[in-house]
Amino acid sequence: LAPAYDVVVVGSGYTGLRAALTLARAGRSVAVFDKERPGHGASRRNAGFLGRTLKKAYVDLKATKGEAHATALYRDLAMAYESTLAFIEEEGIECHAVRCGRLVAATSPAHYAGLERELAGMQADLGLPFAMVPRARLREEMATDLYDGGAVIPDLGALHPGLYHHGLMAKALAAGVAILGNCEVTAVEPAAGRFRVATAVGQTRARDVVIATNGYTPGNLPWHARRVIPFVGYMAATEPLPPTLLAKQLPHRRTVIDSNLDIDFFRPAPDSLRLLFGGATANGLQDPAAIAALLHGRLRRALPDLADVKLSHVWTGQCAGTFDMMPHIGCHDGIWHGMGYNFAGVPMGSFFGLRIAQRILGLPEGACAFEAAAFPTLPFYRGNPWFLPLAMRYFAWKDARLARRRPA
Ligand SMILES: Cc1cc2nc3c(=O)[nH]c(=O)nc-3n(C[C@H](O)[C@H](O)[C@H](O)COP(=O)(O)OP(=O)(O)OC[C@H]3O[C@@H](n4cnc5c(N)ncnc54)[C@H](O)[C@@H]3O)c2cc1C
Repeated sequence: LAPAYDVVVVGSGYTGLRAALTLARAGRSVAVFDKERPGHGASRRNAGFLGRTLKKAYVDLKATKGEAHATALYRDLAMAYESTLAFIEEEGIECHAVRCGRLVAATSPAHYAGLERELAGMQADLGLPFAMVPRARLREEMATDLYDGGAVIPDLGALHPGLYHHGLMAKALAAGVAILGNCEVTAVEPAAGRFRVATAVGQTRARDVVIATNGYTPGNLPWHARRVIPFVGYMAATEPLPPTLLAKQLPHRRTVIDSNLDIDFFRPAPDSLRLLFGGATANGLQDPAAIAALLHGRLRRALPDLADVKLSHVWTGQCAGTFDMMPHIGCHDGIWHGMGYNFAGVPMGSFFGLRIAQRILGLPEGACAFEAAAFPTLPFYRGNPWFLPLAMRYFAWKDARLARRRPA
């Protein structure tokens, strides 16, 4: 460790690396510390879906907080999406980034109607394209009869998450960022107008500190740990499939999510003949065989042609929810943070990392609509989400309640 850096970043995922890269290119000395090996977190474990939506639907946000607020947030989401793709292209990061389109599969007729209402609202106010796919035409998009139609958002994208992270890390190293693995940050304290950063391998000082730990936020960062709800995401890959069988499942090679709050998601692997999918979020299972059995059941239900296909890989990663279901960027007691992505951290982590760096550099383009919101917590919450099973049951109840509603 050097005795001091201009900026110390805690966490080496998309958020931390994008901030570090921007700061280093502006001439700052920057160190990124990770508790594990660099890239240990969700940034190398995710599905690589690139979107521009929140858990809170645009039309609901507009109804509760007003059009100006909802529009400002969704414009920033669109910017996060576009700027991430533009960054990848400008930097020449080879990570299979494509605008493949996304199918949102409706889990009931009422979900289908809700989806149409939501997407029509976004099209009217924000000009975002979509096309409804009625049940009778769903097999043009996916080899399933499970869903009650869906909607295609033609310009959404996908990438290879590991290659994106690898490329980002190579750029950060080339810009002079010091990236240290096995370097757990154990405390950040103010010290004479700067910060003292204690780590497992010694201490250093920094003028600015960025906390970019999302679903891995530790208890020794108590203000942040009190505000994020860590939960486990599960994914699996099939064995390589015959090309015609894979092409039949998702003929347009789009990403797919279903319309539930607790989503199932599918995509063709960008670099092989496997199908990747995930779901059953935060179900409490830890044994890989049990996770595989659960996911395989869901795969068979959605894509019956794959009933006899084996899974070759199963893995988990930590995500972060928040009490208002919104991602948060900001500065508390002089320490910057970007976290709480609620499953949308590929574009949002990259974007918040960029914005945090711009704010540290004092650049006007660092302004971000998400920064205005207070970052809520609950009394007595210390970062142990004992209530998650209840929350997942609440989501399931909400999904079922909407499903029972008769579409207008
Ligand atoms: C299975 C799964 C699928 C997903 N699919 C998608 C998707 O398709 N699209 C999408 O947009 N998002 C998806 N996500 C979410 C997305 O991956 C995350 O939101 C994003 O990667 C978060 O990036 P990050 O840089 O903020 O944090 P991370 O990449 O999680 O990195 C945090 C890092 O902080 C480190 N750390 C923690 N404590 C300390 C400490 N005390 N000292 C030093 N280092 C520390 C950790 O070791 C970790 O490496 C998915 C997540 C999972 C788990």
